[in-house]
Amino acid sequence: MNKVILITGSSRGIGAATALLAAERGYAVCVNYLANQPAAQAVVAEITANGGSAIAVQADVSQEADVVGLFAAVDRQLGALSALVNNAGTLETQMRVDEMDAARINRILTTNVTSYFLCAREAVRRMSTRYGGSGGAIVNVSSVASRLGSAGEYVDYAASKGAVDTLTIGLSREVATEGIRVNAVRPGFIYTDIHALGGEPGRVDRVKAVVPMQRGGHPIEVAQAILWLLSDEASYATGTFIDLAGGK
Ligand code: NAP
Repeated sequence: MNKVILITGSSRGIGAATALLAAERGYAVCVNYLANQPAAQAVVAEITANGGSAIAVQADVSQEADVVGLFAAVDRQLGALSALVNNAGTLETQMRVDEMDAARINRILTTNVTSYFLCAREAVRRMSTRYGGSGGAIVNVSSVASRLGSAGEYVDYAASKGAVDTLTIGLSREVATEGIRVNAVRPGFIYTDIHALGGEPGRVDRVKAVVPMQRGGHPIEVAQAILWLLSDEASYATGTFIDLAGGK
């Protein structure tokens, strides 16, 4: 059976590393991106140069119509979906809760939480035996921020990841008898572009001293756990979490 995977936000960072590794493991890959088409095309080009199959699809996963269009593109161009990685996420300038306005909080929740619900909905409608599907697996990319809280930086972001953890538990139980496993990874401080959005591109090197392993993580170290959770080797794992944070 063809393995087809959709990874939201896979033009860069953890998503891109996951896309490349998924292709190595035999998945046909949908590389979703928001705005950086050259980065998405570069991921697709690397996959196809290595003999794999991939497409790049622009969609803002915080927007319901875009999500519906994204999944329709996968149906049309790659076939039956077998794996979803909810990965696209964002954060904004570091500030305290007493400085935040509603517009910012809602942007974070829409991009980091609503998008995961919408993509999970579309995936379940395709994978669940309840709808005639043949099963599949979902991995949500959460964060250790959900239990650390990101005080003084972005508690809104941390709270959005708390919601992702709860979605993972609830959805996993909802579809447990329908052939779908739902799990999450919780990365710690990983070297990607996301820290620049908070105003501190070098954040990982500042905070790595508080990590028991005394170093930041690399996107591939998260991707490997995601691919394991998606694989048959994780066949009895659902509603569970792998923290990838050097012991933090
Ligand atoms: P990143 O390097 O900033 O990349 C973000 C990716 O998401 C890009 O591909 C971007 O597309 C895409 N994206 C952003 N908003 C989107 C939207 N509305 N619709 C579709 N795509 C969107 O981020 P990252 O560090 O790899 O983070 C990936 C995930 O890991 C996030 O959920 C993040 O919260 C989580 N995480 C990261 C860390 C860390 O230390 N890096 C730690 C814990 C958890 P464009 O290229 O088009 O902009």
